[in-house]
Amino acid sequence: MRAAVLENNKFVIKEVEKPSLDEYKTGAIVKVIGCGLCGSDIVKINNGKAKDGDVLGHEVVGEIVEINSETNFEIGDKIVLGHHVPCFNCHYCWNGSYSMCRHFKSTNIIPGGFAEYIYVSEEHLSKTVFRVNLSLSDIEASFFEPLGCCIRAIQRADINLHTKNLVIGLGSVGILMGGALKAFGYEAYGCDLKKERVDLSLGYGFEKSFLLEDENEVIKQMKEYAPIGFDTIFLTAGATKALNLALKSARDGAKIVVFSSIKDNYGFLNNHIYYRELTVMGSYSPSPMDLEDSIKFIEQGKVKVSGLSKVYSLENLNEAVSDTLSNKIMKAFIKL
Ligand SMILES: [Zn+2]
Ligand SMILES: [Zn+2]
Repeated sequence: MRAAVLENNKFVIKEVEKPSLDEYKTGAIVKVIGCGLCGSDIVKINNGKAKDGDVLGHEVVGEIVEINSETNFEIGDKIVLGHHVPCFNCHYCWNGSYSMCRHFKSTNIIPGGFAEYIYVSEEHLSKTVFRVNLSLSDIEASFFEPLGCCIRAIQRADINLHTKNLVIGLGSVGILMGGALKAFGYEAYGCDLKKERVDLSLGYGFEKSFLLEDENEVIKQMKEYAPIGFDTIFLTAGATKALNLALKSARDGAKIVVFSSIKDNYGFLNNHIYYRELTVMGSYSPSPMDLEDSIKFIEQGKVKVSGLSKVYSLENLNEAVSDTLSNKIMKAFIKL
């Protein structure tokens, strides 16, 4: 089968062995219909975490073509999935840190979503695979996993109906965060450096979004909506500059949810956190419960996920990466 294999930080299309149930016995073989390109795929290439020979991609929409399972999935089911599975029976899991569970980190789909077929284990089928309503488009369904990540972040922040929430960074994941906040009934404000993204966000559930040109000016504008500052800040932008803005736009006692990696070793100062009683927390990857909410939100149309993606072929995956990096597009959907 064809797969996009990483070689010297570029994807090369290669013939690789198709996964087979002869080898794995239980689980399913899924024909990949398409797979979203995630910011984390690009980060893994750039920080060296992904190695030559790896097949990346985890935001998969696919169809079950072979199965041997105790679950009720069948051949022909269209599915989406979470690629990691927590064990639910370790210290991390007992304390709600599902995405830190060592089992979670060691499980994955094989070889990765940028391939014609993947193997999905029985454990995945029983906990993190969901059948998709056929009325959804493939692209809409592909937002299942990234929306799950946003839901996880919102759950971690433990906010309420009176909370004013600011999303810094209005890339596709920032936009989804606003949509998810709205779906829960919470108020979302946005901020970005690019006017097109500020304008776009208003169609996706944001009350108001701010264009960041001058930091002091934007803080002044924000005061009109959140006079003492925002209660929760979701940092989805991978720029160090965004950290400063987060500190300035947060009220004393606020929560800052870190939702992206940044290049440099740079962070919040101890005394900012101490004197202002700030809570700085990370949110990384969804639990099976967040995934369940995600599929509901997409199927019920509570979060708008259409109109964000550009379609690329597997052969054009490198172009999709460079278009994402240069902010030419919001989100790439790789159609197999
Ligand atoms: Zn992702
Ligand atoms: Zn566990």
